[in-house]
Amino acid sequence: MEAVQKVALVTGGSRGIGEAIVKRLAQDGFIVFGTYNNNPDKATAISESLNAEGKSVHFIKMDIASAESVQQGIDEILTKSGRIDVLVNNAGITKDTLLMRMTEQDWDDVLNTNLKGAFLCCKAVARPMMSQRSGRIINISSIVGLRGNAGQVNYSSSKSGMIGLTKSLAQELASRNILVNCIAPGYIETDMTEKLNEDQRKAFSDKIPLKRAAKPEEVAQVVSFFAHSDSSYVTGQVIAVDGGLAM
Ligand code: NDP
Repeated sequence: MEAVQKVALVTGGSRGIGEAIVKRLAQDGFIVFGTYNNNPDKATAISESLNAEGKSVHFIKMDIASAESVQQGIDEILTKSGRIDVLVNNAGITKDTLLMRMTEQDWDDVLNTNLKGAFLCCKAVARPMMSQRSGRIINISSIVGLRGNAGQVNYSSSKSGMIGLTKSLAQELASRNILVNCIAPGYIETDMTEKLNEDQRKAFSDKIPLKRAAKPEEVAQVVSFFAHSDSSYVTGQVIAVDGGLAM
């Protein structure tokens, strides 16, 4: 009997770490659905170039902060492929400023996207994964979710929340063979960190034991492990991919 090709969903697959995860899981043999929110052109370019190499990559529009949009996206994937084996909750935003300047809107936008978005996606994939009696959920948190960071009260709260979400859901879903793990990246070279000036970059790198920022592919490698059968006895864990920063 032919083995079933597994299906992975990567939120925010159109740029940065998400793009690297889409490429890595496609290379690992998954049918990959990436989502974009505002960048259809970038998403189309990624899927066209990977599909030309014989991979199976599709992009759908999904606003993870909207329950309706998330459910529509998951229904579309299930209609097209009949299953979802891996969910990577990667999409995220920042709206950084000090508490005294942070507006309620800054707080709500970041929490609604990063934490509620992850909750909505977990809830939408839980039923098909429970029926399959297998699944992997991989949440992309941050080391600031472990350590906090001045100027990121909203973002770090959302990322700490993802760690709580991971550990609670790992306990809820273990009996159905659904493994839930979390990655806490440190300083990764993407659009999100491009906003930093040269001095800020140097100050960050100097504090990292490995003395450099990471490439998005170095996060994708760890996602690949959590999505692979090699991690079959690992759940509820948080792995920092941070060059040793959060030791
Ligand atoms: P980018 O800013 O480069 O990309 C963000 C991605 O999220 C884009 O694909 C974007 O889609 C998508 N997105 C944003 N809002 C929504 C939404 N409402 N619904 C659906 N998709 C959305 O981020 P990074 O690659 O740097 O970060 C990826 C993840 O890694 C984030 O969760 C981030 O918090 C985390 N992280 C990043 C670190 C870093 O140093 N870069 C460090 C630690 C954690 P579109 O392009 O269509 O707008």
